[in-house]
Order: sequence, then structure tokens, then C-alpha cells
Amino acid sequence: MPDYLHARVETCYQQAEAFFQQPFARPEVSFKLRGQKAGVAHLTENKLRFNPQLYRENREDFLKQTVPHEVAHLVAHQLFGLKIQPHGEEWQLIMRGVYELPPNRCHSYAVQRRAVSRYIYRCRCPQGEFPFSAQRHALVGKGRRYYCRRCKVTLSYSGEQRRE
Ligand SMILES: [Zn+2]
Ligand SMILES: [Zn+2]
Repeated sequence: MPDYLHARVETCYQQAEAFFQQPFARPEVSFKLRGQKAGVAHLTENKLRFNPQLYRENREDFLKQTVPHEVAHLVAHQLFGLKIQPHGEEWQLIMRGVYELPPNRCHSYAVQRRAVSRYIYRCRCPQGEFPFSAQRHALVGKGRRYYCRRCKVTLSYSGEQRRE
């Protein structure tokens, strides 16, 4: 797990302790969450899970918003127990009072499309350029042929790759 993330969790706890004038048990933190959610707080287990892909793609916002959002769930649980609403007034108080952040309920980021490799094929036409997917490029390797509809020439790999 990145040091920044760990340090941010600890800072959030120290802020909560200064604000409420009481100690809070530190959670177990894991960095193995996948999918759309940036983070999950497991209240009764006192555990935080964060999403490494979304962390890489949204680092600044993740440290600013996601970490205190999830820590606030655990702090609210330690203070008020299980009867409160997850994003109810107790949690909102911690977000606003301790972290001075707007209490946004959202846990997720739009997952960015992964960059994919394109293999550039050419024919004889002046602008004749055909970006092939890795799958199609592999089929050519197995003997499949593709032709330009205009110049009727077999498309051949130019040796160029592009990320898009
Ligand atoms: Zn939440
Ligand atoms: Zn052509």
C-alpha cells in the first residue's frame, strides 16, 4: 500500500482524536478492493478496504475525499454504534466538523477506460492506415489476411504501435 494513503489514514484519525478528545482504535487497512467502489468501511470488523486502480487514477481526490469519507464511517461507528444511518447526521458531522469537507455520499469514481494498444497496418493508399486491435493483430500472426477495399492490397503491419 502506498505510504501516502497510510499516512492520510493516520492523519484522519489524529484529527478525529483531537476533535473528540478521545482515542480511536486504528483499523486494519487493505488495498485489494476492485470494481467501482473507491473504498469500503467494515464497521464491526474495524477494517478499511481501498481500491488501488481508482487510487492511481484519482490520487488527489482519493486522498482528499475518499480516505476521510471511509475513516468517518469507522469513527462514527466507534462513537455512536450500529444504530445510526451510514451517511446520517453523525457521519455528516464528522465530515464537516473534523475534516471540513462536504459530506458527499458517493463512494465511487467513473472507472476510466484502460488505454489499449493499436497495431498500425497500412496499404498503398496515401492515407491508408488501419489501427488493429491486439486480437486482430494476433489473427494476422496466425495467417489471416485483410485487404484494403480501395487499393485491394493486403494490409501489412507497419511495426508501429499506438496507445489510445
Ligand atoms: Zn460512505
Ligand atoms: Zn488502400
